[in-house]
Amino acid sequence: MKQILICEDEDAIREFIKINLERSGYFVVDVGSGEDALKTFEEGEHNFDIIILDVMLPGIDGFEVLKQIRAKNKNLGIIMLTAKTQEMDKVRGLMTGADDYISKPFSPSELTARVDAIYRRVTMTETKPTENNIIRSGPFKFNTKTRTLLKNDKTIELTHVEFQLMQIFLEKPNVSIEKIWILRKIWGEEYFGDSKIVDVNVRRLRMKIEEDPSKPGYIQTIWGYGYKWDLDTH
Ligand code: CA
Repeated sequence: MKQILICEDEDAIREFIKINLERSGYFVVDVGSGEDALKTFEEGEHNFDIIILDVMLPGIDGFEVLKQIRAKNKNLGIIMLTAKTQEMDKVRGLMTGADDYISKPFSPSELTARVDAIYRRVTMTETKPTENNIIRSGPFKFNTKTRTLLKNDKTIELTHVEFQLMQIFLEKPNVSIEKIWILRKIWGEEYFGDSKIVDVNVRRLRMKIEEDPSKPGYIQTIWGYGYKWDLDTH
């Protein structure tokens, strides 16, 4: 059963999301505040695959709920709802740990496409087999089966998206990879958002793996094209 928690204080939007996701075969629980979202989550009555979380909520805001839920659950898909009027640069910084975001207003088809894509990713357990499921590159040891990344034997925690990005790079070392290809591969063919989501996640991954994220040595930017996992510099 595909289970989703919706946290949105505006009744009309919450109902809109609920109806559309139920139509697509999801089991939906909906709450109107961050406090209720945390409570529902902690009660553990449902095994949620995805949480759709509005940023602007009356009590504690969506960012705080995101932080608390992500701290306890690495495998949950988290989609943030943002308003067009919000300054996206600021919002992106606060959304660390979210898998995707949807700007209001959005259409039913956009909503379900984004949720379906995240659902596929969250429930995807099989990865491409490699030798012993381990890929080594420089100081990194990446296990595709246990989904762990070690750098100099220290664990680096990755979100789903970061894990997939890392796998794409490590499977194609020294190859320039087109940004749109990465977008399709991770977010799916029907993804409606723009490819900036790739840049946002690459930036986050760099913060975790690079010695100096402002001068990346592993993930190189290929201007106007995409990215490359660079093995030559180390
Ligand atoms: Ca709201």
